[in-house]
Amino acid sequence: MTGSSPLDSAAPDPRDRLADANRAYVEHFDGVDAAKRPNAHVFVLTCMDARIDPLRLLGLGLGEAHVMRNAGGRVSDDAVRSLVLSSTLLGTRHVLVIHHTDCGLGSTSDDELRDQLRERGIDVGNLWTGAFGDLERSVLDDVETLRSHPLVGGRVTVTGHIYDVHTGRLQPVGADSGVEADADDGADRDDATG
Ligand SMILES: [Zn+2]
Repeated sequence: MTGSSPLDSAAPDPRDRLADANRAYVEHFDGVDAAKRPNAHVFVLTCMDARIDPLRLLGLGLGEAHVMRNAGGRVSDDAVRSLVLSSTLLGTRHVLVIHHTDCGLGSTSDDELRDQLRERGIDVGNLWTGAFGDLERSVLDDVETLRSHPLVGGRVTVTGHIYDVHTGRLQPVGADSGVEADADDGADRDDATG
C-alpha cells in the first residue's frame, strides 16, 4: 500500500530481471512431482504485503498448501469462493488466517482509505477496503466469519494469527484451539480443480 504508481518513470522496470530469474528457476525446478491436492491440508489466508513469505514462514513447500492473498488478508467473497473449492474438492482441512504488524490497512478506516484514493483521482464509491482499526480484532472477526459461514463452517478448523514482519514470529490470536469439527481426511474425494 504505497503511493507510487506502476507507471512512475523513476521506478526501474524489473521485468528483464524477472525473466532471467525464471530461466534460472526452470533449470533447477524440483516441483514436477508436487501434489495438486495440498498434502498438508492447509489453506492460508494472508495479506499481499511484500514482507510475508507464507510458505516459508510455516516451513511448507510446493504441493503442501493453498495460499490466498489479498490486501489485509481479509475474508472477501473471493477468499470464501477459493476456500469452498479448496476444502470441498481439494481436501484442505486447516485454515490459518494471518494478519500482520505494520499492515497498510491497519490503524485506518474505510473512509480514510477512500479519501486517500480520491486525493489520487480514484473515486471508489463505497468500495469495502478491508481497513481495520485493531489488528487483533480484525483477526478474530475474520476467523469468526469463516467459522460461521454456511459454506465453510463445520468442515474445517479455523485459527487466527498475527505475523510480526520485523521478527518473523507468528503468534496465535484467540484462546481456543480453533477446532470446529472432526473433519474426515477427504481421501475419497474426487479431484476437480486447482
Ligand atoms: Zn498487510
